Amino acid sequence: MNITLDGPGGSGKSTIAKLVAKKMGISYLDTGAMYRAMGYYALSKGIAVDDEKAVLEMIKNVEMKLWQENGVQQVSVNGINVTPYIREHEISMAASTISKIPAVRIKLVELQRKIASDCDCIMDGRDCGSFVLPQADYKFYLTASSDVRAQRRQKELVEKGQILDFETIKADIEARDKQDMTREFAPLVIPEGATVIDTSDMTIDQVCSVVMNAVCR
Ligand code: C5P
Repeated sequence: MNITLDGPGGSGKSTIAKLVAKKMGISYLDTGAMYRAMGYYALSKGIAVDDEKAVLEMIKNVEMKLWQENGVQQVSVNGINVTPYIREHEISMAASTISKIPAVRIKLVELQRKIASDCDCIMDGRDCGSFVLPQADYKFYLTASSDVRAQRRQKELVEKGQILDFETIKADIEARDKQDMTREFAPLVIPEGATVIDTSDMTIDQVCSVVMNAVCR
């Protein structure tokens, strides 16, 4: 069984995907972590994430691996576990910019489809229901106002010791939405047949129930 959960940053996808996976005893795949890992790796090598030629050269020699440790997804690039570094605020935009390059997406989508074909999973991202797994058994699209999403992101960053002002976070989220929604190849869209859930005024448990009720009917 494959379930997809798409939506903009801060809509609650990862939290819900992890919870539903745990409740159903299936795997979860956070595809955003893969684009973050690619963005982080490029920056660590001094490669500009919008330098398509250099990125194309780089990805020829990139091997990405994903696995779970105590229920938490880990991602490595060329043998180095980059998981601790990819949640930094600056990596969000780097991930969004590198993800515009079709060859980057094709490489990661291949890996995502392979994982989905090997196990029952819930996959969260931007194009999971529209491009990666259009034939998924269940598709959801989570959204929320940019104010709510910025509040959630600010809380997450504070928990990681990163203090940023609300307006900066909100502006960055909106800029990333725009870049993700307007890119040419596999943009963020509501997938055909997806159930749309506005999580702005919902608790995590409420969103989880909507998903579980639809899937376990
Ligand atoms: O979900 P997360 O915020 O970690 O994703 C980081 C970035 O990776 C997104 O802004 C988006 O540009 C990119 N992404 C993507 N397709 C996916 C998942 C993430 O383009 N399936």
